[in-house]
Amino acid sequence: MPSTNLMNQAPEHKPLPAPNSDFYNIVEILSADERAILEKVHTFMQTRVAPIINKYWVEDAFPFELIEPLKELDIGGIGEGYSYKLRGMLIMEMCRVDPSFATFYGVHTGLSMGSIAVLGSEEQKQKWLPTMARLEKIGCFGLTEPLVGSGTGGGLTTTAKREGDTWVLNGQKKWIGNAPWCDISVIWARDVADNQVKGFIVENKTTPGFSVEKIENKMALKVVQNGLITMQDCRVPEANRLQNANSFRDTAHVLRLTRSGVGWMATGVQMGAYEAALKYAQERLQFGKPIASFQLIQELIAKMLANVTACQSMMLRLAQIEDEDKLLDQHASLAKAFTTARMRETVAWAREICGANGIIVDNNVGRLFADAEALYSYEGTFQMQSLIVGKAVSGFSAFV
Ligand SMILES: Cc1cc2nc3c(=O)[nH]c(=O)nc-3n(C[C@H](O)[C@H](O)[C@H](O)COP(=O)(O)OP(=O)(O)OC[C@H]3O[C@@H](n4cnc5c(N)ncnc54)[C@H](O)[C@@H]3O)c2cc1C
Repeated sequence: MPSTNLMNQAPEHKPLPAPNSDFYNIVEILSADERAILEKVHTFMQTRVAPIINKYWVEDAFPFELIEPLKELDIGGIGEGYSYKLRGMLIMEMCRVDPSFATFYGVHTGLSMGSIAVLGSEEQKQKWLPTMARLEKIGCFGLTEPLVGSGTGGGLTTTAKREGDTWVLNGQKKWIGNAPWCDISVIWARDVADNQVKGFIVENKTTPGFSVEKIENKMALKVVQNGLITMQDCRVPEANRLQNANSFRDTAHVLRLTRSGVGWMATGVQMGAYEAALKYAQERLQFGKPIASFQLIQELIAKMLANVTACQSMMLRLAQIEDEDKLLDQHASLAKAFTTARMRETVAWAREICGANGIIVDNNVGRLFADAEALYSYEGTFQMQSLIVGKAVSGFSAFV
């Protein structure tokens, strides 16, 4: 990698300001106890994840070596009893370093455990959630299919047929994060009897007819292992059907909660890209001066910081709404659409500031630039979020 010409002093011989993406000090909103949890995650991401993640990203591999240290953090059970502000900032902090690791954690705790927590019976919650919270069993969430992405609300082709106390599942699920190696899959399928979407907990390793193929050659979120799940006459006991999932409306309830999480994630990605690009601009000399001293670079830096700060402010208000239990689909959709669109701008400007070095993964900007593309599309694309907002505010649905 070419030298960035380290420079430790500003022209006035004052120390340079350290890049700080929390410009409005949003962390101050948290209680002291919450801040301590966030600090623990910050240290873990900086000391354990940051030093090794580029290597795993390049190799398309998951860092299983981090599971044991993650268990020690004891954050798998952060759900009920914790504010949405803390949950959001926690996943934002993870994304500041690595959105792949955050996605693994988010799929497990948010989508998979979240489905059981929101839609499972008391017995199901007792059976699955404690071991999942301790990360002894890892979960995934299978909704998308090879031929059905944005249209999952109306057209799942995976079927569930009841035979006595057993359900028989047939179909495929595509893009399922953690699926190639995890223990439990929450699978969404259409009940052939009433045509409604129901949810099932499938034990990956012990269910005959259940197989997973790893999706290869991705250019984003390469650390996350995504799978193509095939189910051929998979038999699942009625006891593993999510007892309170009766239609896609219930699936959408889980998605609404995790979608706001993606807004926090998109904010964290921008924080990481902003800090890396600003540091680079402070150190890189051209024409005998740090490029951070050039007006056009400063404009990019200010625009990035404005994006970061706007997203943080929006997400904070969204978390307040969630903490008051007043979150609507359109609230989460607006935030997901806005923050991911700003993220695409911010990571592109960060890449631009780093010049050619911006495309090298080692500089911690190229990886975020690529990963942003996956966040922009998953958990509902920009267009679908816009259509949900459009329907709510105009009174007309453009998609169903
Ligand atoms: C890295 C990654 C991880 C993922 N993890 C999971 C997971 O764990 N579990 C899971 O179930 N899914 C997962 N997904 C799938 C993800 O949720 C889908 O990719 C997403 O919902 C979009 O579906 P699609 O890719 O099939 O795109 P499509 O639905 O085919 O859309 C293609 C394009 O058409 C546009 N479009 C579609 N319909 C309309 C319309 N009515 N009006 C205007 N534009 C429209 C879309 O916005 C998009 O731009 C993951 C995806 C990725 C990339």
